[in-house]
Amino acid sequence: MSTNEPQVCFTKEMQKDYTILIPNMAPLHFELLRALFNAYGYHVELLRSDGQAVIDAGLKYVHNDTCYPALLAIGQLMHALESGAYDLEHTAVMITQTGGGCRASNYIHLLRKALKKAGLTHVPVISLNMSGLEKESAFKLTLPLLKEAVALLSYADMLMILGNQVRPYEVNPGETDQLIGQWIQQLSARIVPRRPTKFEQLRQTLSQISTAFAAIPVQRTQKVRVGVVGEVYAKFSPLANNHLEEFLRSQDCEVMLPGLMGFLIFKVDNRLEDIKLYGGSRAKATLVRFLIKYLTNIESVFLDSIRVTRQFSVPASYMQIKEMVRGIIGYGSKMGEGWFLTGEMLELIAHGYENIVCCQPFGCLPNHIVGKGMIRKIKAKSPIANIVPIDYDPGATRVNQENRIKLMLAVARERLEAAYPAPTAEV
Ligand code: SF4
Repeated sequence: MSTNEPQVCFTKEMQKDYTILIPNMAPLHFELLRALFNAYGYHVELLRSDGQAVIDAGLKYVHNDTCYPALLAIGQLMHALESGAYDLEHTAVMITQTGGGCRASNYIHLLRKALKKAGLTHVPVISLNMSGLEKESAFKLTLPLLKEAVALLSYADMLMILGNQVRPYEVNPGETDQLIGQWIQQLSARIVPRRPTKFEQLRQTLSQISTAFAAIPVQRTQKVRVGVVGEVYAKFSPLANNHLEEFLRSQDCEVMLPGLMGFLIFKVDNRLEDIKLYGGSRAKATLVRFLIKYLTNIESVFLDSIRVTRQFSVPASYMQIKEMVRGIIGYGSKMGEGWFLTGEMLELIAHGYENIVCCQPFGCLPNHIVGKGMIRKIKAKSPIANIVPIDYDPGATRVNQENRIKLMLAVARERLEAAYPAPTAEV
């Protein structure tokens, strides 16, 4: 796919006075990422625009048969550029490139096409990727920056997972969100360029976060527990999933969103699976094994820190999830969220979140296969599974999506009431 225009690269000089706009995928994770980039000398702004105006901007510039996440991410960027809020001579845009076989590697070309259509080819495009793509850019993911990004990712996972386990039961409404806000500020302020967080520091901070959440006064009651899985953007982004988490909370549910760390390990592990399936150099395999070890070590510190207070449900590790899917789906199924999505559903069921919403964006073939396509097999293994796949696209109405989720919740409530009948009044 070519835009037939010379590409404008982000240069060292631009770093001083350019604002870099990034679309928002996972609010907590990307907020910390923004703080990280800014600590490293960039001026990054995280876009928080929402609603029909963003979708319309996406539809204006991206063909409507493209993956919905591409339409929204590009829509958010184009909406910002056309808002008049930015000096277009000093603004750059950033987009992720996965570097895999899925279309997420090509969103950048769609963005360049959109810029051309809007007469904005002079706006530099930065690719956020770990595959060595777009090497000419002066925006560099250095080793210290990457190490710090992984630490911040584990903090964001912790804030999200524990926040979701405490918020529905808090005695003083708003306390959980206040604590999350305080931690985001503290963690952002602690970032020191070129001095990534050491392992011991990471362990300490994760334990402190866990202890802080455990100290929030709660009143535990029986609530319907709902897991959310799906294509990574549709699962995390309230813009994409029509504020799904908020909706589930309004229905008096406890929500569980598995974190991003497992997905990151999955992406790295895929390189090893590629070598096993199709061959590759020993040196590459050694490097990938080293990376997996590094990430799984961080993951085990993360899980230990949740365990420490004995108050929270502790998710399974990546390797445990990998084991769960054995015999159900092959490890070679790795486009999109691949076998890991199936694994997350099995993991949620094993941890008491058998009611599941599977978010599927329009145009996403791989996740329809490993998500919706695996429901029958999952139910055969775990008949208790109560899964509803929900399609997200520019034309789908929120009411329709929420009504389908309500049907799933009705089944969940019936089961909960049968398991925990309300005490009968004494006469
Ligand atoms: S995972 Fe799905 S939505 Fe994402 S790029 Fe691939 S096909 Fe598109």
